[in-house]
Amino acid sequence: MLEQLKKALQINTRRRQLGALLFIDLDNFKTLNDTLGHDVGDVLLQQVAQRLVANVREADTVARLGGDEFVVILDDLDKHQLKAASQADAVGQKILTALNVPYQLAGREHRSSPSIGITLFGAQGEGVDDLLKQADLAMYQAKAAGRNTLRFFDVGMQSEVDHRVALESDLRDGLQGGEELLLHFQPIVRVDGRVTGAEALVRWQQPQRGLVMPEDFIPLAESTGLILPLGRWVLNTACEQLAVWGTRAETAQLTIAVNVSARELREPDFVAQVKRTLGQTGANPNRLRLELTESVLAHKVEDIIVKMAELKALGICFSLDDFGTGYSSLSYLKQLPLDLLKIDRSFVHDVLTDPNDAAIARTIIALGQTLGLSVVAEGVETEDQRTFLMNSGCFAYQGYLFGEPMSIDQFDVFMRTFG
Ligand code: C2E
Ligand code: MG
Ligand code: MG
Repeated sequence: MLEQLKKALQINTRRRQLGALLFIDLDNFKTLNDTLGHDVGDVLLQQVAQRLVANVREADTVARLGGDEFVVILDDLDKHQLKAASQADAVGQKILTALNVPYQLAGREHRSSPSIGITLFGAQGEGVDDLLKQADLAMYQAKAAGRNTLRFFDVGMQSEVDHRVALESDLRDGLQGGEELLLHFQPIVRVDGRVTGAEALVRWQQPQRGLVMPEDFIPLAESTGLILPLGRWVLNTACEQLAVWGTRAETAQLTIAVNVSARELREPDFVAQVKRTLGQTGANPNRLRLELTESVLAHKVEDIIVKMAELKALGICFSLDDFGTGYSSLSYLKQLPLDLLKIDRSFVHDVLTDPNDAAIARTIIALGQTLGLSVVAEGVETEDQRTFLMNSGCFAYQGYLFGEPMSIDQFDVFMRTFG
């Protein structure tokens, strides 16, 4: 494939003719492997390969890079950028359609879809590595756009890459010593109005960028491994706060929920780290909650269950965050030693206007009741939403209706007023 690409590049650059590189990655292939086994995964790869070959011309190249990644090289497209892009787009769309036709795997019908990244070549004398990187980046854009779609690499995308690199280097600097990190607290309120605790939410106070919200840096921290020092800082800060609260009767009952990324939980010494932090800060483990998302279920669930059990033995509780947005297997849900489900704020948001969201919220509440788990609704913004949730059997809430995430000083004031 590399040889073919090099050759195509040389010829096209000389003839001033454009070609395209398509990077194709199957969506959720891992899930198929995990659920039906690698043999079945192999059969899908073979069928995908056949469909790719059938949907390009004889002269084009189809290759498998590895795993569930395929590459298609289209070498003689139009001389004009726009025309060439629309030709490549047409082939990409054709591939999308072809790979979306149901597959027969192990006697069952299976659906699969690809995410496709496309880059044009021949205009600027790019190198093979550049092209692969560009097509790969475009493929990630397609994933980010919701999968089962295609995206082109372009200049805008390049500047996005530069932005990420700068952000990563700033984050690395900002994590040294933790001076740029802030921990905010958002109250969690019971149906009778009592504050039972808070969720700890991290913010990044960057000198030039200002206050950066987690959605803009947690994914980057996760993909670079910076989530590990960040997570340690958050856990430590939260436990210090629990220890302070433990000394006053009015606050001694409050819990703090800390978000833990799948990446952190996978660390071999995660349990030891939590123990150490509890020991050093003197926080009461019974007041600490760890919030996991369904993404922890994507890897070695057995290991995760062992770790959770060890932490539970210390008195720590577990919540499943953003419930309903991920890829939960209900049988895992039963195995995990959970205490609480959090209804994602996207469902709460439209609970009064969208009958589907209302049904999902009610179903999660019923599921919680059946499995003996408490349920907290996130993102409660209006009294009507709260009433709906209450009437559906959900008796704990978090959201702007009660309080936004706030600094610890503000939280103290809040507690004196409403606690
Ligand atoms: P999450 O754990 O689901 O946190 C709840 C998010 O909902 C917070 O966003 C909060 O500000 C927001 N929220 C709360 N009430 C309302 C409401 O009434 N309406 C609306 N529209 N939004 C509300 P935030 O603080 O931006 O955090 C976003 C996500 O970042 C969190 O989602 C969590 O997944 C992640 N995160 C935050 N802190 C940490 C951390 O220390 N470690 C890790 N691993 N992830 C964190
Ligand atoms: Mg959370
Ligand atoms: Mg959440």
